[in-house]
Amino acid sequence: MARYTAANCRLCRREGAKLFLKGRRCFTDKCAFEKRDYAPGQRSRYTRRKVSNYGVQLREKQKVRRTYGIMEKQFRGYFAKAAKEKGITGENLLRFLERRLDNIVYRLGFAPSRKAARQIVRHGHFMVNDHKVDIPSFLVSVGDVVRVREKSRNLAVIHDSVKDAGRRPELTWLRLDKVKLQGEILQLPSREDISMPFEEQLIVALYSK
Ligand code: SF4
Repeated sequence: MARYTAANCRLCRREGAKLFLKGRRCFTDKCAFEKRDYAPGQRSRYTRRKVSNYGVQLREKQKVRRTYGIMEKQFRGYFAKAAKEKGITGENLLRFLERRLDNIVYRLGFAPSRKAARQIVRHGHFMVNDHKVDIPSFLVSVGDVVRVREKSRNLAVIHDSVKDAGRRPELTWLRLDKVKLQGEILQLPSREDISMPFEEQLIVALYSK
């Protein structure tokens, strides 16, 4: 599948927000957004363009899509599913994104970023309910247990990340067992549990045109 492979920090600067795409670096003063919080490009620092409603909605959609590292077609697919569910479409959309296995691995602290999580999931280092799952888009459900496979317990990226996980806010909808290197999905996240300052209603407005 196609993937964005250029510099991640450009994406934060483009969206005007920290998207936390690079793990530990995002929490240090090496963060490119902390140094240059204007859009990439030679003139962007000196020009101020009026942004249309469509532009605002488009940027919000891109911000969410890039945070979770999802391509446009798949993102639209999540939106279609979210619109069919009961409840608020924008919140349903975020809940679908949070349920992805790569996101859960990141949220549990087994990987420093969603990108790194996607890679270690794809390399087959995780089990869901005692079955090996190597599909990053696999959607977990309440009661599922995500576990690092026995042979992968000594993987440096997982070890370092778990050690570092104290920096991240604790999540009430997930329970991490650092000794067993496993996490349980206690409930699906509410909107308050998803701490990123997204304005998901703008995405609903964009896709509802
Ligand atoms: Fe974004 Fe992280 Fe790069 Fe900062 S270090 S600009 S938060 S990806």
